[in-house]
Amino acid sequence: MTDVLTFGEALVTLRADRPIRSGGALHMSVAGAEVNVAIGLARLGHRARWVGCTSRDEFGALVLRTLRAENVDVANVEQAEGPTGLAVFESRIADVTRVSYHRSGSAGSRLTPRHLKAPLREGARVVHMTGITAALGHGPLRAVRTAVSAVRASGATLCLDVNYRAKLWSRETATAALRPLAAQADILVASDDELALAAPGGTVTEAQQVEALLACGVREIVVKRGAEGAEVFNASGAVARPALDVPVEDTVGAGDAFVAGYLSALLDGEPIDRRLERAVTLGAFAVASRGDWEGLPVREELGLVHAVPGSTLR
Ligand code: ATP
Repeated sequence: MTDVLTFGEALVTLRADRPIRSGGALHMSVAGAEVNVAIGLARLGHRARWVGCTSRDEFGALVLRTLRAENVDVANVEQAEGPTGLAVFESRIADVTRVSYHRSGSAGSRLTPRHLKAPLREGARVVHMTGITAALGHGPLRAVRTAVSAVRASGATLCLDVNYRAKLWSRETATAALRPLAAQADILVASDDELALAAPGGTVTEAQQVEALLACGVREIVVKRGAEGAEVFNASGAVARPALDVPVEDTVGAGDAFVAGYLSALLDGEPIDRRLERAVTLGAFAVASRGDWEGLPVREELGLVHAVPGSTLR
């Protein structure tokens, strides 16, 4: 059985190191929240399966080649009509990045419950999904709902990362779709400003939101606080962990790396404080290196974030 099953849309990223309108070179790579998590887990030695629809265009070939090279299981990936969705990152001023998406009508948005049938039947220890997939259209939202019901029936651990994207849907639409899903998650991951989208209505403060989610049966609520670190709430209380102090190169992908670290330690049977430790470690790798996942560590490299700045590794 695979360790983690995740699904969603793979994008090709184009990164410009200066404003797009000034021209210049673009650097091409592959991303997508669930792809980033799958690669982060595979680098740490876990069996990660990613399911989605890829395009027949050359970008789709790059997506598949990258995932295979990173040891992510793509056995259930299908090709579909439409282009590969693109995300364009533009370094506007130091550490302020503008992102624009070109993904409407993409192959990735053609995901439906049918694509998840076989992998859900085969099972996984953890099934990870994000609010981004739910925002991609009717088919992907139905796929998320189907997966939630199947995981609930199977006894696997269901992890949902709210991952709100304002360019894909309004807060109102997201709230209506995500609240019923969040209530069924075992592990809910959210930035502090995303909790309101997932917590039951009528809750205002973080304490109320956490209490209401725990009352729904959510086992762990993992709140990401950017450079402040993160906190996990469960029935026994709360455990907080500060972020690691690293030079910031590129914060994009920190949240996905964080989730990969958290799930990795969960799969290793570690308690919550150790899961948080690995989560903030991977978050630190993501912000201290360029790209969404390129700088993420293999297992032997986990201690690297504590290396003395300016040192040479021999
Ligand atoms: P993104 O959407 O850009 O992937 P996010 O909003 O989902 O990010 P963040 O809360 O920004 O997620 O970051 C996730 C984790 O990454 C944080 O909890 C922290 O551990 C780590 N992290 C984020 N920013 C920094 C930073 N400046 N320095 C060190 N660690 C950081």
